[in-house]
Amino acid sequence: MKGIKTLFEVDVLVIGGGAAGTLAAVAAARRNKKVLLVETKGALGGSRTCMGVDSFNGFYSPGQKTLQLVGGISFEVAEKLLNFESAFIRQNTFGSGPVVTYEIEQLKILYEDIVTQAGAQLLYYTYAADVERDKSLINGVIISNKSGINRVKSKIFIDASGDLDIAARAGENYELAGENESPVQSLTTVFYMANVDNEKAFSLSQEERTRIMQKAKESGKYKLTRIGGSIHPTPNTGFVHANLTRIPNINATDPQALTAAEMEGRKQVQEYVHFLKNEYPGFENAYLAFTACNIGVRETRRLKGKYILTGEDVRQGAKFEDAVVCCSAPIEDHVSGTSVKWQYLEAGNYYQIPYSSLLPKKAKNLIVAGRCLSATHEGQASARNSAQCMAMGEAAGLAAALCIEQHTAPGELEARLLQQELIKQGVLLVPIEIELERLIK
Ligand SMILES: Cc1cc2nc3c(=O)[nH]c(=O)nc-3n(C[C@H](O)[C@H](O)[C@H](O)COP(=O)(O)OP(=O)(O)OC[C@H]3O[C@@H](n4cnc5c(N)ncnc54)[C@H](O)[C@@H]3O)c2cc1C
Repeated sequence: MKGIKTLFEVDVLVIGGGAAGTLAAVAAARRNKKVLLVETKGALGGSRTCMGVDSFNGFYSPGQKTLQLVGGISFEVAEKLLNFESAFIRQNTFGSGPVVTYEIEQLKILYEDIVTQAGAQLLYYTYAADVERDKSLINGVIISNKSGINRVKSKIFIDASGDLDIAARAGENYELAGENESPVQSLTTVFYMANVDNEKAFSLSQEERTRIMQKAKESGKYKLTRIGGSIHPTPNTGFVHANLTRIPNINATDPQALTAAEMEGRKQVQEYVHFLKNEYPGFENAYLAFTACNIGVRETRRLKGKYILTGEDVRQGAKFEDAVVCCSAPIEDHVSGTSVKWQYLEAGNYYQIPYSSLLPKKAKNLIVAGRCLSATHEGQASARNSAQCMAMGEAAGLAAALCIEQHTAPGELEARLLQQELIKQGVLLVPIEIELERLIK
């Protein structure tokens, strides 16, 4: 575009500082590459922080024997939070395995620390708005912020925007959630309650919780959009996380629809706050501490890349020659209606996410990571767990660095070399059995 200045020239430009983008930036910068990470908000973490989600799923498998599925720099994040004592491990409410529940404010700082200590440059309040493309190469990404509209040139681009913004604008093929037979996963406004009596609130079984909610809904006094959901303790006693609201059939890449969803989500929170205070043991003296800054979006555009991960791959525990991530998380489909559709893998089984599901078909210098990976609705409903998103980011960042070192393109990079280097930094391409019981609170 004429008249636009090139403000940065880097080796790797990472778009989006969520779980995937943060890890991509760290992995590439630790290989001494010049990395710029642009993020439209004022914090790293994406749905991990700004959308209020406080638990990493996907590090550990469900079942009698615990498998650890994700290692490397991604696990370093979880371990650091656990070492600060600002996190603990608990069993997931829905039996999808042990999860790491952390303090969001600590994660924001930790992500910033690992990015800057690795030597990557971080630019907040910067939106990656457009792409300059010359045949099969992306030449630049157009960024916009308070200082104007400028260009970033880079050897490799990593789209970790969650919504596939850059790959879509570069003309890659994608599927927009909801455009085929499966409805788009519902959105959720996460909120936190303070001054809760933890002992009373968490003495109830999930069945008892569901019964209380069902009864309250049937009474006609409260408009509850989800029955069940997650109300769980945080590292701070009396401070409780609530994932209860549900806004179905929203295309979150449509700003008008997303604006309406934000407003609807906040209204639903008020309904749940009244319900909790009036009907739920332990919440009698509680109050709403805050709602997340941004409504939680589970699914928008998914890449149609070199390999498309499917629900069948998840259910059957598919293994791939170019595997870069392991996962045993169930397919967790937040369909419209008041419940969630769960499909679990057989106990002890796992599947792998291949490098080729991070690769687009057209642009030669682009890699995708995180919840916008190349997957079907069902495949993404399992692979979108945050430990796996971090691991995808880590693989994408390392792949970008290796491409620069090897003077090659992401699509030409030898998967075996990438795997060797991933293993060197502690990434698990085969899960390991571990003893976890002592850590569970
Ligand atoms: C309500 C809800 C509850 C969940 N619960 C859990 C849970 O308990 N455990 C679990 O493991 N997972 C959970 N998940 C899933 C998980 O959090 C996400 O799938 C995962 O963290 C996605 O990471 P990501 O980096 O791919 O995307 P995101 O978290 O969406 O991050 C994308 C980042 O890119 C930025 N960005 C977007 N577009 C641009 C642009 N054009 N320019 C610059 N920046 C941009 C965004 O601001 C954001 O920071 C939940 C998700 C939701 C919505």
